[in-house]
Amino acid sequence: MDCLFCKIVAGDIPSKKIHETDDLIVIEDINPQAPVHLLIISKEHFLNLNDCEDPALMGKYLAAASTVAKKLRIAESGFRTVINTNAEGGQVVYHLHIHVMGGRQLKGQMG
Ligand code: 5GP
Ligand code: ZN
Repeated sequence: MDCLFCKIVAGDIPSKKIHETDDLIVIEDINPQAPVHLLIISKEHFLNLNDCEDPALMGKYLAAASTVAKKLRIAESGFRTVINTNAEGGQVVYHLHIHVMGGRQLKGQMG
């Protein structure tokens, strides 16, 4: 399948990986919108939230946000998690991922 994040998960495209479990990887976003901007990426290919109806897996993806926030020491100061779904949600890469942003005062809808 021709999917950018599947290739990153497989290691065929390099990324700065900061965390990994059996179910997900966490990498630095290539175009960071904040001093810390991470992407929690599912190892399994789901298009987006509409395509993943497994609450246990979704829970693992979401729980990884505070794990990596603590690892990068932005858990106490605060961070934002964003999941874009389909065109009007601003989704560009159609492989499920959660943005984790922090390290500065975020403002407005997306900071
Ligand atoms: P979306 O709008 O789909 O929620 O966000 C996709 C994100 O993936 C964007 O923030 C974009 O900067 C990031 N991105 C796109 N291509 C790459 C890549 O090749 N490597 C990394 N690390 N991030 C990428
Ligand atoms: Zn994929």
